[in-house]
Amino acid sequence: SLSDRLTATFKNLRGKGRLSESDVNKTVRDIRMALIDADVALPVVKEFTSAVRERATGAEVSGALNPAQQVIKIVNEELVTILGGNTRTIQFAKRPPTVIMLAGLQGSGKTTFAGKLGAWLKQQGHTPLLVAADLQRPNAVTQLEVTGERAGVPVFAPERGNMGGHDAVLDSGEGTRSFGDPVSVSRAGIAHAQSQLHDVVIVDTAGRLAVDAELMQQAADIRSAVNPDEVLFVIDAMIGQAAVETARAFAEGVDFTGVVLSKLDGDARGGAALSVAGTTGRPIMFASTGEQTKDIEVFHPDRMASRILDMGDVLTLIEQAERAFEAGEAEEMQRKFLAAEDFTFDDFLQQMSALKRMGSLKSMLKMMPGMGQMSAQLDNLDEREFDRVEAMVRSMTPFERTHPKQINGSRRSRIAKGSGVTVSEVNQLLERFGEAQKMMKQLARGGGMPGMPGVPG
Ligand code: GDP
Ligand code: MG
Repeated sequence: SLSDRLTATFKNLRGKGRLSESDVNKTVRDIRMALIDADVALPVVKEFTSAVRERATGAEVSGALNPAQQVIKIVNEELVTILGGNTRTIQFAKRPPTVIMLAGLQGSGKTTFAGKLGAWLKQQGHTPLLVAADLQRPNAVTQLEVTGERAGVPVFAPERGNMGGHDAVLDSGEGTRSFGDPVSVSRAGIAHAQSQLHDVVIVDTAGRLAVDAELMQQAADIRSAVNPDEVLFVIDAMIGQAAVETARAFAEGVDFTGVVLSKLDGDARGGAALSVAGTTGRPIMFASTGEQTKDIEVFHPDRMASRILDMGDVLTLIEQAERAFEAGEAEEMQRKFLAAEDFTFDDFLQQMSALKRMGSLKSMLKMMPGMGQMSAQLDNLDEREFDRVEAMVRSMTPFERTHPKQINGSRRSRIAKGSGVTVSEVNQLLERFGEAQKMMKQLARGGGMPGMPGVPG
């Protein structure tokens, strides 16, 4: 598995301090295999890995991660960016109804998704209407009606001779056509939605087993007739290498505003997501994850990235390593503190930001049992005071931060001006800082708290 291969790679790389070209190449090779395993289309794999290689080779070496981990972190970030740089959900029209058209190959999951989306929207307080514009076979209309009923969402369908039993009627505005004209049905559906105050219309369209000109023309005709606010391209996650060709054909033939990835409950690793996003640059909005109405999810780029890489565990390890590294930095600070090595305003800033982070934990800590005393102490943290102090330190030059004793009168008034405080506040800060330095020196010399009985000195 990829995880095993990478673990081996980590072993070889551990201890090297530098991100060499061969380290990058080796890891990129593993990543390429993982993407191919996940069925990402080859041109997309190629483009992606070369972008990663470029970024990784130039990258600064992090203190927290070994080189392979660092490359993987970059890979993951790039994946998330491509998959979700433009993540968004449905944009509703200013004047309802919002029209959402579904397009995609036959069997991709459009009709099933129409029901899911309808139920999802209804749950959010909308009043959607499904429109049956797949008139290839009468069966398709019946399927949407069944789907709508299951989802609790009304369906607009054309009258079908003596098949009967439908309350919706075909628009007669532009000359009623026989059962079979999806453009008229779509128009009639929208008119029906307007009169019945449905605020969203979902237009289900026909598909073919493969891309063909007639299908594209029909979809394009529906599109120009109903002028949809969103066109969602529904693609089967299991489609594999054909994803690029199909997505490109629909992008050119109909154009779409977003993507729905269906059948993600299968064992496909989801490479189609990357293929489609990488090829068309269109955002993936939803994932369809089963045959039930409830099996719909807003698309999460980060989850998909780890599914494609098949390395959730490795990514967790990387996060932990980075967190541990931060903790190590804090220890180093403490050591410096105790050794009273030239404590500077830069160190001071770093400590303050740690305290600030604690401050934002205040409300959370208060809710925890037994934290009464601690929360009283935290209440004394005035966050605005932090901001003023931070502004003063930020107004100091690097020289001044490391040589606080050299901050004379004219420097003090410049700092005061720069940070919007009074000179006397700057004086107070410098005084307090001097005292803190002195105390730390005493601590270091005495090896304990000064003047405290019982503490060995
Ligand atoms: P359409 O031709 O694009 O309208 O596709 P359908 O909605 O009719 O779906 C084709 C088949 O795929 C049906 O058997 C559905 O039950 C099934 N299907 C659709 N979406 C999903 C999904 O997310 N997961 C699974 N497992 N099956 C799905
Ligand atoms: Mg269908």
